Amino acid sequence: MNENVSRGLHERASRLMPGGVNSPVRAFRAVGGSPIFFQRASGAHLTSADGDTFLDCVGSWGPAILGHADPAVIAAVQRVAVDGLSFGAPTELEVRFAERIAQLYPAIEMMRAVSSGTEACMSALRVARGFTGRDVIVKFEGCYHGHADALLVKAGSGAATFGVPDSAGVSATAAASTLTLPYNNPDALRTLFAARGKDIAAVIVEPVVGNMGCVPPLPGFLELILELCEAYGAVSILDEVMTGCRLAPGGAQQRFGLHPAMTCLGKVVGGGLPLAVYGGRREIMEKVAPLGPVYQAGTLSGNPVAITAGLATLEQLTPDLYEHLETIGARLEEGLCRGLKDAHIPGTVQRVGSMLTLFFVEGPVRCWSDADRCDRKRFAAWHRGMLERGIYWPPSQFEAAFLSRAHTLDDIDRISQASAEVLRSF
Ligand SMILES: *Cc1c(COP(=O)(O)O)cnc(C)c1O
Repeated sequence: MNENVSRGLHERASRLMPGGVNSPVRAFRAVGGSPIFFQRASGAHLTSADGDTFLDCVGSWGPAILGHADPAVIAAVQRVAVDGLSFGAPTELEVRFAERIAQLYPAIEMMRAVSSGTEACMSALRVARGFTGRDVIVKFEGCYHGHADALLVKAGSGAATFGVPDSAGVSATAAASTLTLPYNNPDALRTLFAARGKDIAAVIVEPVVGNMGCVPPLPGFLELILELCEAYGAVSILDEVMTGCRLAPGGAQQRFGLHPAMTCLGKVVGGGLPLAVYGGRREIMEKVAPLGPVYQAGTLSGNPVAITAGLATLEQLTPDLYEHLETIGARLEEGLCRGLKDAHIPGTVQRVGSMLTLFFVEGPVRCWSDADRCDRKRFAAWHRGMLERGIYWPPSQFEAAFLSRAHTLDDIDRISQASAEVLRSF
C-alpha cells in the first residue's frame, strides 16, 4: 500500500480545513496514521488517490446500501440534473418521494425533507417543543443525533438534573434542558419520568445504536420509551437516520413493530446525496410553518437531484436485498467471532442486519459505559492491519460497519480472513 498521494493531499488539506477534513472522524485520529483520499467507488470497492483498491465496509457511513455508484441511481440523477438542479419551488418528484416514504413508514403521516440528519433531528426537537409547550429533551448516552447545540450534551453526574455541554461552543443554557440517560436502562427512564414527566417535550433515541458501535435495544426498552411518552404527553422520536431503510424498508420501526410519534430519516433515503426527512403524527406536524407557529425552512430542501437519488434507491429496497444483507451479515459476524476465538483475543461482535461492530471488550455491550471499556489501542492496530490487507473499516472503535448489496460471500470471507490474520499477529 502506497500512501504518498494521500499524504500529500492531507498536508495541503490540513492548511485549509481543520484536520484536513470536512467531518472529524475522517481524519483517522482514533486509529492514527493519515487518512486515505479516494477518487472513485463502485459496488463494494473504493479506489484511493494512490491507486489502491479497498473492499469497503463504511458505505459512506450508511447511505451506500446498494453499493457505490449504483447504475440505476446514477442514470436517474444524470437524467434529472439536465433539467435544473434546484428551483426553490415545489416539484412532482417531492410529492412522489413523500408518498413513498408514507407508504414505508405508516407512523409518518406528514413530513418535511431537509438536507442532513442533523437538520432532521434539530427540527424534530423544535417541533416537539412547539407542540408540547415544554422544554426538556431526553437523550441517551452514546447516541448521536447530529450536532445541534441541544444534542451535544453529555451525561451529568448522578441523577439527571441539568445537561452539560459535550462540545466547546455549546452554551450552558442550550445544554441545560437536555437530560442524558444510560441506554437500555428502563429503571433510569421510569425514575426520570416519575420525577419530571410533565416537563418532558421529547425523548429521542436511536432504535438500534450505531454511534457507539452497534448496540441493539434490550427487549421492551423502546416499547417503554413510547409508552411513557404517551402516558406523559411527551413526543417519542425514533432517530432512524442510520437504521431507516437499513434494517428493513420501513426501518427499525418496521422490524420491531413500533409506532413512534415522530421519526427522523437520512443516509439511505438520500441514496448518497444530501437528503433527510423528519415527520410523524399529523397533529404534531401541523405545527410546522406555514400551517403552524414552528419555523423551519431550507433553500435546497427537497431539491430534484437529491430526491431523485432517494427515489431511485427506495425503488430497489426489495425483500431479496434484505435477505442478502442478513445472509452476509450473519456470515461476517460468524467469521469475525471465529477469528477472535482462535486468537484468544477478548472481544465481541454485535450485529443487527447489515450493521455491525467488532468491540475489543468482552460482551455484551449494552450501553456507553460498556463500550467505553474497549481496548482502543488494539482496535487501532487491528484497523491498520485491515487497511494493509485492503479492507476499509470505519476508523473508530465506536462506529458501525455497513454492508451492501454489492458485497459477495467471497468478499465477506476475505474480510474474515484478513481479520483472523491480524488477530493472530497480536
Ligand atoms: C448520521 C446520523 C445523524 C446525523 O446525520 P448527518 O447527515 O451526518 O447530519 C443523526 N442521527 C443518527 C442516528 C445518525 O447516524
